[in-house]
Amino acid sequence: MIPYGRHSINADDIDAVVDVLEHHFLTQGQMVPAFERAICDYTGSGYCTAVNSGTSGLHVACLALGIGPEDCVWTSPISFVASANCALYCGATVDFVDIDPHTRNMSITALKEKLVEAAASGSLPKAIVVVHFSGLSCDMKTIGALAAEYGVKIIEDAAHAFGGNYLAEAIGRGRYSDICVFSFHPVKSITTAEGGAVTTNDEGLAQRIELYAKHGVTRDPKLLTEVQGPWYYQQHLLGYNYRLSDLHAALGISQLTRLDEFVSKRRRLAAQYEALLQGLPIRKPLVDAERQSAWHLYMIEVQSHDRASVFATLQSKGIGANVHYIPIHLQPFYAQLGFRPGQFPNAEMFYSNAITLPLYPDMTDAQQHVVVDTLTSILQ
Ligand SMILES: *Cc1c(COP(=O)(O)O)cnc(C)c1O
Repeated sequence: MIPYGRHSINADDIDAVVDVLEHHFLTQGQMVPAFERAICDYTGSGYCTAVNSGTSGLHVACLALGIGPEDCVWTSPISFVASANCALYCGATVDFVDIDPHTRNMSITALKEKLVEAAASGSLPKAIVVVHFSGLSCDMKTIGALAAEYGVKIIEDAAHAFGGNYLAEAIGRGRYSDICVFSFHPVKSITTAEGGAVTTNDEGLAQRIELYAKHGVTRDPKLLTEVQGPWYYQQHLLGYNYRLSDLHAALGISQLTRLDEFVSKRRRLAAQYEALLQGLPIRKPLVDAERQSAWHLYMIEVQSHDRASVFATLQSKGIGANVHYIPIHLQPFYAQLGFRPGQFPNAEMFYSNAITLPLYPDMTDAQQHVVVDTLTSILQ
């Protein structure tokens, strides 16, 4: 089976983890701070907190922005459930903004309309979680301007987008958002097995992110209200244990040195798909020079064929196709909250036709040709 995604681990990655096991602290040593500094260097962001998953990162991002039971958070229905669940963890309510069929990201037109309506009815969201779906950045300049106009906070769910660019800067730079969250799950751009990171340029937010991810406990002399001795620490808020371990961080540091190589391999394969799939009755992903995708996923939409049968044939021929994602509002849990089919038609249309083709750094040209030839024989 050619999988839809797969991590790439080399001898240096393994040595980095073994070195920690043999010579260093397993947690709360030097690896996590070194990983955080490396992520700041890579993205150009001011502050970074490494966490034990992207989901934890989204949760502490919401907490740091003060999201609570009185608030509403908007996100895209075409994302992993974590993009919406993070708001529910804080007791807030969630609503969705439909996608743009071309970018497959949150539609800017739909967002503007919904903001106008919400402003008129006094129901503006506290924050919007924008998702750089498949690794293609959202139109952050416009989103940042809307956020300023309406007084809304912006969280970038960049789980797909580490290594991608927006207007020639790294995603995670955070020029147009409050907080940016990455995931290091094995199918993502780099992996720590499980893990994530939260970046921001705001010192106050960075302090709160750090506290929420670490029990709400601090030893920082700048934050302590008194010092009873060198052992002393204080709990300032109700935080969680969302720490990344040094073992995971060591893998992350090693993987980060390979990120550009991974992304350039993904970009090369995506460009080859673009050329090789020419002429088939499918919609291919948008390619845009202003926002160079990290190509986490390569998704096509079948237009003239039944998606389920194309999917089944691909699988039967050893091609690990996948579907990203079932619209969040159609999940039984979200239906219980009152969401209904038909509310976000572009998301539902995309879902009904979408197929994710295999794409990962170590995919060979020969494997890609098998995928293309099989798909071509099904669709022609
Ligand atoms: C993977 C993913 C997450 C969650 O990341 P984990 O590290 O698996 O917790 C959140 N949002 C999106 C869009 C993702 O793809």
